[in-house]
Amino acid sequence: RPTLGVLALQGDVREHVTTLRRLDVDAITVRRPEELARCHGLVLPGGESTTMWRLARTFDLLEPLRERLRSGLPAFGTCAGMILLADRILDGAPGQETLGGIDMTVRRNAFGRQVDSFEGPVHVTGIDGPVHGVFIRAPWVEEAGPEVEVLAALDPVETAAAGVEAAAGRIVAVRQGHLMATSFHPEVGHDSRVHGLFVDLVLRA
Ligand code: GLN
Repeated sequence: RPTLGVLALQGDVREHVTTLRRLDVDAITVRRPEELARCHGLVLPGGESTTMWRLARTFDLLEPLRERLRSGLPAFGTCAGMILLADRILDGAPGQETLGGIDMTVRRNAFGRQVDSFEGPVHVTGIDGPVHGVFIRAPWVEEAGPEVEVLAALDPVETAAAGVEAAAGRIVAVRQGHLMATSFHPEVGHDSRVHGLFVDLVLRA
């Protein structure tokens, strides 16, 4: 069984641990380099990317995280975690940096002030039937490089119905090599299929 870590500096850590425990893996929380060293894969949760960034620096986790990601540790970021895995951010906080690894530009809080949260079906490559997408002050992928595989983009009919026309066709799930990310929160609710895709990625790594 692989050991999967959830970065536990801030955000919805418990939801990820619960979802992972429904799969055939050992799930642990990661706050220290020693815990990171035990992981075969790492989840970066939803929450606030600027806070996670600052705490990672305070806990001396930034360099160990970057180092492990560079050397091939599989990672899965949701929402704020997607921002952490992006090589470039638009509308970041002043001075905000990321861990990087996925050749993409994400727009932070992309859905806008009026519609900062919405829910709808998302069709994800590799999963039969729609996933219920929960978007909370979520980023979207504004631009993705040639190595990035798009796993999901938003349906124009759904986004129009929710009053977020600007989100039509926007990329909300991606994979590049050993890294994957979603704008939404597959850790809320009882569906573990997106985490299942990540476990497959870990097992193949
Ligand atoms: N807006 C948050 C950020 O910038 C992400 C929101 C979320 O993870 N639900 O990090």
